[in-house]
Amino acid sequence: MIIAIDGPAGAGKSTVAKIIAQRLGFLYIDTGAMYRALALKVLEIGLDLKDISKIIEISFNTNIELVNNKDGSLKLLLDGRVVNEEIREPRITKIVSDIAKIKEVRQVMLVLQRKLGLQGDSVLDGRDIGTVVFPDADKKFYIDAYFKERVKRRHLEFSGLGRQVNYNDVELDLHNRDTIDSTREVAPLKKAPDAIYIDTTNMTIEEVVGAILKNISIKR
Ligand code: C5P
Repeated sequence: MIIAIDGPAGAGKSTVAKIIAQRLGFLYIDTGAMYRALALKVLEIGLDLKDISKIIEISFNTNIELVNNKDGSLKLLLDGRVVNEEIREPRITKIVSDIAKIKEVRQVMLVLQRKLGLQGDSVLDGRDIGTVVFPDADKKFYIDAYFKERVKRRHLEFSGLGRQVNYNDVELDLHNRDTIDSTREVAPLKKAPDAIYIDTTNMTIEEVVGAILKNISIKR
């Protein structure tokens, strides 16, 4: 079974997707982390973001692996190296959408994400899972929240991790990513017609998890 969870940054997708996967005993595939890993490599090599052909070349020659640990956590490997922490740094968040909008890069990720999703029952979260990666997913959800609420959540998340991040910077980042992700030519962020829309603005995480689970019936 494939469960697709899409939506903008800060809506709570990954938190919820992780919990759903754990409760159902499914694999969790964080597709945003894969784009982030490639963004990290682009930064490490020192590529100019305008050098699209070089970025495409790099995407063909990069090994990105997502390993589900037994405790439900994920290990993200970039060319064999664990990069879970680094990919969350602001320097990555700032550039990831510009890399993710490149058609050829998305094609590479699409192949990888489909392969991962077909390994077994999976929950995938991202921007184009229900529309492009798995248009035939068994269940699709579009998780949303008001912009200000998403900024607040992201900011709180950073403070919780002990990171000093300016509120206005978080707001600017979300605004930029929303714009790039939803207006790009290839696989823009949008709700699949058959996805269930959940506005999480006034919901707790547990309420969102419950709203999703009540729509999933599993025959064992
Ligand atoms: O989910 P997360 O915020 O970590 O994703 C980082 C970025 O990766 C997004 O802002 C988007 O540009 C890109 N992305 C995408 N398609 C996906 C998942 C993420 O374009 N399926």
